[in-house]
Amino acid sequence: MPSRPPVDTVTVRAPAKVNLHLSVGPLRGDGYHDLTTVFHAIGLFDDVTVTRADALTVAVEGEGADDVPVDQSNLAAKAVLALARSAGVPPDVALHIRKGIPVAGGCAGGSADAAAALVGCDALWGLGLGRDQLTEVAAGIGSDVPFSLHGGTALGTGRGDRLTAVLGAGSYSWVLALADGGLSTPEVYAELDRLRETGPVTVVSDAAEVLSALRQGSPEQLGQVLSNDLQPAAVALKPELRRLLEAGDELGALGGVVSGSGPTVAFLARDDAHATALAAALAGHGVCRTVRVADGPVPGARVIRTL
Ligand code: ATP
Repeated sequence: MPSRPPVDTVTVRAPAKVNLHLSVGPLRGDGYHDLTTVFHAIGLFDDVTVTRADALTVAVEGEGADDVPVDQSNLAAKAVLALARSAGVPPDVALHIRKGIPVAGGCAGGSADAAAALVGCDALWGLGLGRDQLTEVAAGIGSDVPFSLHGGTALGTGRGDRLTAVLGAGSYSWVLALADGGLSTPEVYAELDRLRETGPVTVVSDAAEVLSALRQGSPEQLGQVLSNDLQPAAVALKPELRRLLEAGDELGALGGVVSGSGPTVAFLARDDAHATALAAALAGHGVCRTVRVADGPVPGARVIRTL
């Protein structure tokens, strides 16, 4: 029987995330915070193509590409290096990243690219690793990378990297409002620590209300309980986010929340038609740079093409 020709190129699609709930514990001695979060993968994607090459290279195109590093600090390149090391193969691939996820937007774009690179190299090198093994490598790259592999909706604890799938009814229609410029995740955490020095004692809230709304499959209920402890810090660093959140409320969003460390704001709509109308109204309001409509949940990083 003729053997199958080797694969030379694999393209993997990986989704953005929003946090439906993000509770941040006090600063730990090791510099991290304990998190309880509900991740939700939405239909904004990066496509990462991995091609056999003589050396590891990175090219990036799409919106915000100029702000993405093309050296080994790129999270996708880190993923290639980590997987190559653990599999004992040379990391010689050309990475091509097409960005559809806002850069430095709190939507885990870099983590999506890392997850995509893991899935792509696993296929290209014929490693046949299962999700569990890829997740182990993913956790070493960044705390959002396991979720970018996983997709769907999941409860994250620890640094956000210990995941439990959340099974819920229904799908949700979102409007993502993209702000001008990004926010640095470490700076937003530092601002939160600063605000807490003078503010109320930190309590890590559980995600019970969000999980209950997801079980019901009720956008109305979910809209009312979206929450993010990082939001006050993101708003302090980017005060125009307050106006944006108010505008979403005035224009009839079921709820709105800063995604992760921001500055992207996720507004929940009743259905796709409501999301389209809300997006148009927000765009006309002049309170954000641009808007996107996306459904969630969607699957994690997955191969869409091999050549
Ligand atoms: P998170 O919510 O996971 O903290 P984010 O969504 O706010 O992250 P990213 O788009 O992941 O932000 O990028 C954060 C920074 O990481 C960027 O400013 C960029 O310099 C760097 N970076 C490294 N690799 C990538 C990548 N593949 N795509 C985007 N940014 C990357």
